[in-house]
Amino acid sequence: MPELFVDGRWRAALDGRTREIRCPADGSLVAVVDEAGGKDTVEAIAAARRAFDEGPWPRTSAADRGDLLLRVADLLVRDKKALARAESLDTGKRLMESAYDIDDVVNCFRYFGRLIAVEAAGRVVDTGMDHIDSRVTYEPVGVCALITPWNYPLLQTAWKVAPALAAGNTFVLKPSELTPHTAVHLMRLLEEAGLPPGAGNLVLGAGPEAGAPLADHPDIDLLSFTGGLGTGRRLMAVAAGTVKKVALELGGKNPNIVFADADFEAAVDMALTAVFLHSGQVCSAGARLLVQDTLHDRFVDEVVRRAESIRLGGPFDEHAQTGPLISATHLAKVEAYVAEGLTEGAVLRCGGERATGPGLDAGFYYRPTVLDECTADMSVVQDESFGPVLTVERFTSEDDAVGLANDTIYGLAGAVWTTDEARAARVASRLRLGTVWINDYHPYVPQAEWGGYKQSGFGRELGPAGLAEYRETKHIWRNTNPGPQGWFD
Ligand code: NAD
Repeated sequence: MPELFVDGRWRAALDGRTREIRCPADGSLVAVVDEAGGKDTVEAIAAARRAFDEGPWPRTSAADRGDLLLRVADLLVRDKKALARAESLDTGKRLMESAYDIDDVVNCFRYFGRLIAVEAAGRVVDTGMDHIDSRVTYEPVGVCALITPWNYPLLQTAWKVAPALAAGNTFVLKPSELTPHTAVHLMRLLEEAGLPPGAGNLVLGAGPEAGAPLADHPDIDLLSFTGGLGTGRRLMAVAAGTVKKVALELGGKNPNIVFADADFEAAVDMALTAVFLHSGQVCSAGARLLVQDTLHDRFVDEVVRRAESIRLGGPFDEHAQTGPLISATHLAKVEAYVAEGLTEGAVLRCGGERATGPGLDAGFYYRPTVLDECTADMSVVQDESFGPVLTVERFTSEDDAVGLANDTIYGLAGAVWTTDEARAARVASRLRLGTVWINDYHPYVPQAEWGGYKQSGFGRELGPAGLAEYRETKHIWRNTNPGPQGWFD
């Protein structure tokens, strides 16, 4: 069955091109999928435009839109096993992690399904004038272009599709060309749940070809992009040509700050989870460990000891604790990044090489790596590796920690570990980050906003602001007793 979904029809690419999808854990062929080019995407945009301008979805009541999202949530639960398996084959991540991701996808659809049903449709403005009926209403933005990355394929997609549909928009989705399968499955579920033709469209393919029209086409009203900083900068520049609304969820180089009075066991354990979960391929990975000077040696020794024993393996290896990198290209990038750090003077404490051995040789595995004695001026501290690489810096005081943590172009997420509540509150408020965890790392809920400060992007996903992103605000002023004013008498 073909995998492009345009105007309610499943079809192959216009020029018949396809792409092989291979599992990063062992290089095995997962499937051959249709590969869209720019013309396919332009057709999908036209379908989404018609569905917005003339179709039923934007005119469907908020309660009914919410119901459809809740039905999709139920279908996702029904298909959870197949979805988790597909996600693992595309990404190489452990099946258990993929299953958690699908749970989060379900929660996201449920959250926006319920939110839209109770969200105020608008508000009445008190003008103080009896003959004026002044109202602010919320409307869908229009046709949304949704572009997503490969690290949490369905989850990042859900964060966009659910609020876009809740608000009454139509969309064209382009997932990462490396991980298309769960997006295809989701479109089938939207169809099954009764989404009208053209309201949701899917194109698979490479960014510069299938993705490019989504940034410059005048019929796209909003571009929501999650991916790398370089791509985000380019898309924002292109989108400026038609003054689209733009929301960018970009990278991070996220500080994990550990004070000497922190709960040692919890902080060590979570320092590992912060950076090595999904082999560091997490936008909010705590890849930059800042440890108070007096705790440094004991803390880093323990992190290194535990990092050395992390077990790597493929999606179905029950003993594996984390998996491969997404591709050979990405593996080479992480290798070059570590080599650069060593040239800059970082001290390699563990890892620093590809992982080989039985079950690993055919995949893209890299050993969990700790680079100690780093300083803020090093590129390994400033740049995102998006791999299992932890850089360690020392700090002396609270001011020092905050100064170092904020000394980056990024501002996505980070954590502070201390048993001093007042200090935790002070540091949390001084960090220029979209998410701050205190004595924790990584958890999030769909009720709370997610997004970046500085060059980690702008706009918010999840929470009420994540819905507002997909709505326009209109002021309607009605004079119930019109008459001449006489201004130009
Ligand atoms: P990427 O920028 O290479 O690709 C992201 C998406 O953009 C893909 O679908 C790709 O095909 C598409 N794309 C690339 N060039 C394009 C173009 N010219 N026109 C249209 N589309 C184009 O990023 P990636 O490697 O897939 O993902 C990793 C990055 O994503 C990391 O930097 C990570 O931090 C970031 N990320 C951020 C968040 C967040 O919430 N802030 C979440 C996940 C990932």
